[in-house]
Amino acid sequence: MPNSNADSNTDNKSSIDKSAIHSIHFNKAAFSTSAPSIRQCPPEQGVEVAFAGRSNAGKSSAINTLTNNKKLARTSKTPGRTQLINFFELSDSQRIVDLPGYGFAKVPKGMKDEWQRNLSEYLRERKCLKGLVLMMDIRHPLQKYDSMMLSWALEADMPVHILLTKADKLKRGPAQSTLLKLRKHLKEIGAEHLATAQTFSSLKRDGVDILKSKLCEWLALPEDTQDEYEGE
Ligand code: GDP
Repeated sequence: MPNSNADSNTDNKSSIDKSAIHSIHFNKAAFSTSAPSIRQCPPEQGVEVAFAGRSNAGKSSAINTLTNNKKLARTSKTPGRTQLINFFELSDSQRIVDLPGYGFAKVPKGMKDEWQRNLSEYLRERKCLKGLVLMMDIRHPLQKYDSMMLSWALEADMPVHILLTKADKLKRGPAQSTLLKLRKHLKEIGAEHLATAQTFSSLKRDGVDILKSKLCEWLALPEDTQDEYEGE
């Protein structure tokens, strides 16, 4: 019987623990700070999940859909902030981290190299980072930088959840076949224990509960911290 998450959903209608996805108030997300590099990130307190993807992959829209807050996505798109790591607080000890979009041909090589070092370091060194949501346009998955991000995450033993975004752009059959192909690829590279995938559409709000359920799993606070937190 297949038991990995990557295999359990042939589509987005998997069984989701509805009570778990209400345990985090994603719509309360609020911008907290921006950092130009990993070294200037806020202190390692609590837990965080990061969102990454090529520019234009639909990352802002996905964060926006997840949090039901158009302003939040706009925050990361503010000129001057697009190359920054943007932090959004869900609670005192839980954060969403919006990483700069990558894959822009226009970015000078030196900057690209530095950014790559930064990203891989962030994935390896940031102890409070519990998982990476990697966004790929369903029509062009696994481009060069996507594969690079995926391999850095896997090298860092970092769980990855892939969103095949803009799923509404394809009919259900081709969308599912792309998802299955991606899962097959994850198996082939020996990543099925760390990487899961789903289709997602911000436009149709399809796949939001699966994403929330994954994030709740990653952002769960250790019991003792939670007691302390609830006792406040
Ligand atoms: P980012 O650069 O990764 O933050 O991407 P955006 O969220 O800004 O999206 C890039 C473009 O794709 C915009 O024109 C969005 O309107 C569009 N887009 C994003 N998500 C969806 C989606 O689910 N369906 C469709 N059809 N278009 C989308």
